[in-house]
Amino acid sequence: MKIKSANFVISNTDISKCPKANKAEFAFIGRSNVGKSSLINALTERKSLAKTSSTPGKTQLINHFEINDEWYLVDLPGYGYAKVSKTSRSKWGKMIETYLKARENLLCTFVLVDSRHEPQKVDTAFMNWLGENEIPFVIVFTKCDKQSHTKLQSNIAKYRKIMKKTWEELPTMITTSSESGLGREELLAFIGEIAEG
Ligand code: GDP
Repeated sequence: MKIKSANFVISNTDISKCPKANKAEFAFIGRSNVGKSSLINALTERKSLAKTSSTPGKTQLINHFEINDEWYLVDLPGYGYAKVSKTSRSKWGKMIETYLKARENLLCTFVLVDSRHEPQKVDTAFMNWLGENEIPFVIVFTKCDKQSHTKLQSNIAKYRKIMKKTWEELPTMITTSSESGLGREELLAFIGEIAEG
């Protein structure tokens, strides 16, 4: 897929204020510093479409971007499940859950994990929550230029092993680097295929 246009639409904390759900939608989520903004900017070939974590005043918002006037790319705030008990989930945790469960045009959520790290509970707990709620997701490994091929494969294998314990079907996994452009075409092709149904 060629990116012809990428425009910011709206930021908000309220699902009722999201744009009309009349286009295919793809969300990006991950812990702070995972490389989400860099990946969104690399995908869309825009230098600062998504604001990096270090941007002053960056708040916990659902950010909608319109791509090629065809689909929505959504930059979601990070999650922190391990630190929050089930009963006292923070406000933004609830906001993300509500969005993910209710947004009927959301076709896939890309869960970003730093490829340098072994599976972290916070990430796998979130993936399990997605699975339990039948929300389709893909695991996107970020910063793949930062370590050896062997280490990358070993971390991917660990994710597979953990996911296999709970799920019969493993999620698609895509390896990326915003530095080298690895995975960009694959990710865009994946989006294109699903968006066209
Ligand atoms: P966010 O908080 O998830 O939006 O993360 P950012 O996109 O702001 O990235 C966090 C840090 O990781 C920044 O210093 C980026 O330059 C760096 N980074 C992000 N993606 C990559 C990548 O693919 N390769 C390398 N080497 N560094 C990256």
